[in-house]
Amino acid sequence: SDADIETEVLVLGSGPGGYTAAFRAADLGKKVVLVERHAVIGGVCLNVGCIPSKALLHTAQVINEAAEFAEHGVSFGKPKIDLDAIRAYKDGIIGKLTGGLAQLAKQRKVRIVHGEGRFTSPHTLAVETAEGSQLIRFQQAIIAAGSRVAKLPFVPWDDPRVMDSTDALELQEVPKRLLVIGGGIIGLEMATVYHALGAKVTVVELADGLIPGADRDIVRPLEKRIKARYENIFLKTQVTTVEPGKKGLLCRFKGDKAPAEDVFDRVLVAVGRAPNGKLIGAEAAGVAVDERGFIAVDSQQRTNVPHIFAIGDIVGQPMLAHKATHEGKVAAEVIAGQKAHFDARTIPSVAYTDPEVAWMGLTETEAKAQGIAYEKGAFPWAASGRSLSLGRDEGLTKVLFDPDTHRVLGAGIVGPNAGELIAEAVLALEMDAEAGDLALAVHPHPTLSETLNFAAEAYEGTITDLY
Ligand code: FAD
Repeated sequence: SDADIETEVLVLGSGPGGYTAAFRAADLGKKVVLVERHAVIGGVCLNVGCIPSKALLHTAQVINEAAEFAEHGVSFGKPKIDLDAIRAYKDGIIGKLTGGLAQLAKQRKVRIVHGEGRFTSPHTLAVETAEGSQLIRFQQAIIAAGSRVAKLPFVPWDDPRVMDSTDALELQEVPKRLLVIGGGIIGLEMATVYHALGAKVTVVELADGLIPGADRDIVRPLEKRIKARYENIFLKTQVTTVEPGKKGLLCRFKGDKAPAEDVFDRVLVAVGRAPNGKLIGAEAAGVAVDERGFIAVDSQQRTNVPHIFAIGDIVGQPMLAHKATHEGKVAAEVIAGQKAHFDARTIPSVAYTDPEVAWMGLTETEAKAQGIAYEKGAFPWAASGRSLSLGRDEGLTKVLFDPDTHRVLGAGIVGPNAGELIAEAVLALEMDAEAGDLALAVHPHPTLSETLNFAAEAYEGTITDLY
């Protein structure tokens, strides 16, 4: 093998956390080596997560809009689906972004080593590269090894009709009947895609509602819309067996409202993600990993070993790209001697379903459980001229305020583009904005962003412009 590589900063894993940390450390003058087992950098988010799912969801949105556009006086007819072309389009987007990242790494002289890395001591990592084992000696390290699909043990994974989210994004075929196990964000996003492409979709969720983390009132419009379009949605229901058969996958269910056994053409398992903490030889470096595989860190992203940091999915929930990138910057800045801390007041969550569901800060469910006093301003989109012009009226924007100070505590939005709109509420929370700030800031008309303005006006009792 090559001579050992010496570096100041080693980053293990090139997802949004890892590449952000590597670039920031390099920009702050550090010599950086980035280790990635896959041939392309970008991690889950770019290759098999955020980006490909959003590319396919845009296709789904256009199909859905076209299908309902006859009401507007224009009919498009039945869509012609070319799966190979859809896949190629999606892969093209991924290629642009991962190629861009490789370029950005090169400009910064971040050295990328491809191969599986494992710590062999507190200051060394061995990488199994195509050419053999390569030892990297580092002064400081950032673990950004992310997470992987959580596998249900009783599912026959060797059957090609059983899919995880990565398989589902490959669009091998559109099954006639698809069972989605898991009614969280990833399961529902993939359900949206396959339903738009023509599959009959059934969703099974163990909890008593879809997207368990969000308030029920902002999930209800989504639930209502997909109940009318999907074959079935079973809540409080557990899948107990998935059995390969000639005619499909035989599935059995358990729960009060569980359906009879049924045969599906494909099954997508989307029951969560597991951190990769136990797969990196952390013990050799002395880094503590809990029994689930998470690595505990302080507000500077430091592990129990002072010169080793960890960021992203591997340090805990929420497993979101924008959390990973912000943590990555903090770790790099601390390594470069800055006094950075991760102190985001909130990390927003978005389901890019149709309609989108987005929330940030305190939810009403949390406020009630924790006995936190709040008041609420809400605006139903049925009174938004912009929403009606899109042909949609089911949206809702609500903002929670502190009853004493009228400061923003949280917000929930459901409707087309809710994921874009939630950002204004995040800024309001970060800046200690009060209801009056949201109410008095002049918002462009007619926009969906006005619904935040109207929700605050409704709270203040000053709302007059209901359209
Ligand atoms: P990862 O992206 O998991 O990257 C870790 C990298 O480390 C991987 O490339 C892996 O190959 C590499 N690695 C691991 N171990 C080793 C090793 N021993 N040696 C070498 N390399 C190693 N989040 C959002 O915010 N918005 C979304 O819309 C969104 N959509 C998603 C859709 C899907 C279908 C999925 C699955 C996830 C989605 N996520 C989304 C979550 C998001 O992808 C993750 O939160 C994010 O990728 C985490 O980044 P990370 O840097 O922690 O790790």
